[in-house]
Amino acid sequence: MITITTPDEMRAWSMSRKSRGRTIGFVPTMGALHDGHLRLVADATQRCDDVVVSIFVNPLQFNVDTDFDAYPRPIDDDVAACASAGVAAVYAPTAAVMYPRGFQTRVVPGALADLMEGPGRPGHFEGVTTVVSKLFGAVGPDVGIFGQKDYQQLRIIARMAADLDTGIEIVGHPIVRDSDGLAQSSRNVRLTPAQRDAAVVVPRSLDAAVAAARSGTPADAVDAARSVVFAEPSARWEYTTVFDADDLTEVTRFGVRSPGRVRIATAVWFDDVRLIDNRDLFED
Ligand code: AMP
Repeated sequence: MITITTPDEMRAWSMSRKSRGRTIGFVPTMGALHDGHLRLVADATQRCDDVVVSIFVNPLQFNVDTDFDAYPRPIDDDVAACASAGVAAVYAPTAAVMYPRGFQTRVVPGALADLMEGPGRPGHFEGVTTVVSKLFGAVGPDVGIFGQKDYQQLRIIARMAADLDTGIEIVGHPIVRDSDGLAQSSRNVRLTPAQRDAAVVVPRSLDAAVAAARSGTPADAVDAARSVVFAEPSARWEYTTVFDADDLTEVTRFGVRSPGRVRIATAVWFDDVRLIDNRDLFED
């Protein structure tokens, strides 16, 4: 496995692989790799000849400086995990390489970024689309694998890849969870043991919503989810929303209750750690 730190070197590596007829699968990450990331890598390995993982904590997409500063960066462990997972190249540029003096171009997402997480995190998705465009430009993948954990991000990237004629196939990988249901996240390591135990209310609140949605309204589903979070004193509820899986608009009444059409998402805080989760409301 090779570790690459500049876009020119990355592009040269990819071009040489592609000239040999090899396909490239790409998994962009911010590092602190966990099993969820490695399952995306395994998915990419199934689909393509060579897998590239990028590790870059992107300052452009953080709204809060302390969250950026506190973000875990175990780069040596991450590189070792990629090597064991059969990754061909790790792309780990520095912020100075990605955003040198004079950098000024941004990729502006559309309406999908104004919904859900958008209003509370100004500039976040523009930071994501900008960095992912740059990474796509350097890596030149055939396929990009993104987690459904960040469902809105996945939809925005899929839209961007199509709108900008990248020709890159965007794949959404299902959410990888711990055995008690908590979605794996690099931020979970910042929870105290007590908070980690309490954090199970996040997936349980979505379970309660799924049960309520069988015979109730979207508002009933949100109420059911909210009461699970409210019952946990260390949790601070931010939002729960029922939304269209395709255009992300809020769903206020259910049409057909079939899989793949309607999802529920939530954000919950434990002190200064913000956890997000989502799921299909009518999955099989
Ligand atoms: P991050 O390093 O948090 O930016 O995540 C990198 C990629 O891994 C994104 O596409 C995430 O959606 C995805 N990801 C993170 N955690 C999970 C998870 N628990 N299950 C599935 N995908 C995940």
